[in-house]
Amino acid sequence: MSLRPTIDFLLHDWLQVESLQSRERFADHSRETFDAVLDTCERIAREKYAPFNRTVDIEEPRFDGEKVILPQATHDAYKAYGESGMLSAAQDYEIGGMQLPYTVEAAANAFFAMASVSIGSGMLTSGNANLLMAHGTELQKQVFALNEFSGRFSGTMCLSEPQAGSSLSDVMTRATPDGEGFESDALGPRYRLRGNKMWISSGEHELSENIIHLVLAKIPDANGQLVPGVKGISLFIVPKKLVDTQGQLTGERNDVALAGLNHKCGWRGTTNTLLNFGEGKYPVRGGAGAVGYLVGRPGEGLKCMFHMMNEARIGVGMAATMLGMAGYYASLDYAKNRPQGRPTGAGGKDASRPQVRIIEHADIKRMLLAQKSYSEGALALALYSARLVDEQHTGQAKAADEARLLLEVLTPIVKSFPSEWCLEANSLAIQIHGGYGYTRDFPVEQYWRDNRLNMIHEGTHGIQAMDLLGRKVLMEGGQGLKLLAARMQATASRVSPEWADEARQLLDALQQVGAATQAAWKDAEPAQALANAVPYLQAFGHTVIAWIWLDVAQSAQGDAPAQVGRRAAARYFFRYELPKISAWLQVVSRRDPTCAEVPEDAF
Ligand SMILES: Cc1cc2nc3c(=O)[nH]c(=O)nc-3n(C[C@H](O)[C@H](O)[C@H](O)COP(=O)(O)OP(=O)(O)OC[C@H]3O[C@@H](n4cnc5c(N)ncnc54)[C@H](O)[C@@H]3O)c2cc1C
Repeated sequence: MSLRPTIDFLLHDWLQVESLQSRERFADHSRETFDAVLDTCERIAREKYAPFNRTVDIEEPRFDGEKVILPQATHDAYKAYGESGMLSAAQDYEIGGMQLPYTVEAAANAFFAMASVSIGSGMLTSGNANLLMAHGTELQKQVFALNEFSGRFSGTMCLSEPQAGSSLSDVMTRATPDGEGFESDALGPRYRLRGNKMWISSGEHELSENIIHLVLAKIPDANGQLVPGVKGISLFIVPKKLVDTQGQLTGERNDVALAGLNHKCGWRGTTNTLLNFGEGKYPVRGGAGAVGYLVGRPGEGLKCMFHMMNEARIGVGMAATMLGMAGYYASLDYAKNRPQGRPTGAGGKDASRPQVRIIEHADIKRMLLAQKSYSEGALALALYSARLVDEQHTGQAKAADEARLLLEVLTPIVKSFPSEWCLEANSLAIQIHGGYGYTRDFPVEQYWRDNRLNMIHEGTHGIQAMDLLGRKVLMEGGQGLKLLAARMQATASRVSPEWADEARQLLDALQQVGAATQAAWKDAEPAQALANAVPYLQAFGHTVIAWIWLDVAQSAQGDAPAQVGRRAAARYFFRYELPKISAWLQVVSRRDPTCAEVPEDAF
């Protein structure tokens, strides 16, 4: 079972990605160049990632007191990925990029996520560098971003602290001006940072020559106090090793120290670290304090960081999706080979007949269709959203602005739907394997453990839900929601006759979501409206995926088994999944207080 035909179908038959060639930026591209990128990534993923997925799970990163040790396979995969040019795929030709549409880049990266999500494909590095390309000075781009695109340096994002996870306004890392002339450092206004950053992925390793940390910290006011709230947060480049204006290492180690590695449930191929900034373990120029260079203006750190976080959220959604796909393929293969049980005929079961393979049982098919509908539906949504990113960057002004607004509303879904439902897919993949699925002899338990992270990082599920109901559907007069509704209505109006029932069901779901949104905000009382934000997110996500499936189904013509399968997954989603939204939306519309009002001592 190969992912490639599904990717090809979605990119070409459904999204017609070749139409992007008409844009000046992509004029040199063609189906051939897109295929070449996909071929290369598929091959590297097959050769350098997939065979080592279990290795990186078993051989967890360890610290020998000086260095973090990772399996050789991780070094080889890192090198192969860097050499493929994928880190700078979307960048301009002048700086060594391919000017590849993001839609194709996202599709190509899907192969790595499926082969071994935790070896990783440089998402943090390219996200870090992309942020610098958007908000950095010319020299910051030259010295830091370009060396990240080449793979020479790698990148991190340092937001979380032990006491500040979801609530970033409580960040306590301090940044103070670094002596006389701090403002005129060629690399950007120079500060000294002191504080602790928790959960930092890829925060320490020997994969690259240098690690470029992007760190959120607060600059104290004239009285030495930290400004409360997110307005006080600024963004800094803090390299692990100091560099000169040519990007060469100066030989000085910056004052960033590994305090410890976190030992995780899954995703073990990536180091996860607690980093101490500025505690004096590696004094710089005679003093404690990690040297950091301001990016953008003081107080605008979170705004800049959001540039990276939105990309990261699409990336997280894609990772969750591909883990769902990996489990689907593994359990499909198992179900085709495992003999167990006999069909029940009119006279009961005939024990003299050979056992059937479990794929012949309706309940196994149910679990396979559920996985397929969650994972391929989520993949289609991720690629649709990636196509919106291309529209936002290269479309005509009106279309670009619509794409921006649609992305605002869809990003929480792109991140959270697969995080929840492709995790459920992994659980079903274990179920199909029976007891064998619960052992480490089969890959599905690792997929589940790896996937369990995705509802937690890049904004927890609860935080995504509040972002959707509390901000995204209301922003700019609810324009994003209206645009999304218009797209759903357009799909419903052009379906072929055999999809008319589903089209009606979709319009009904849309009406229910709209009514619940209004009912939740009836008295504009945020605490009441948001108390049931997660059921709202679930209903919204299911409505979006139903729409995506209805749209995909219109392109899935003919009797080829893959097309029959797509139509079956679409029907499954409408019949078994979409009806769930009524229950979810009931508590939203009623602003049900059961959870909010239960007293703590009643637990
Ligand atoms: C493996 C891993 C990798 C990570 N990588 C990075 C990284 O590279 N860089 C980085 O900066 N961070 C990283 N993180 C941190 C991650 O983003 C945080 O764990 C996440 O934001 C949640 O913060 P927390 O763990 O402090 O949980 P908390 O914020 O304490 O949340 C605990 C629970 O409370 C809920 N909650 C919190 N506030 C509210 C509220 N106002 N209303 C309702 N419910 C609420 C949450 O939804 C959650 O269920 C990583 C985490 C992990 C586990």
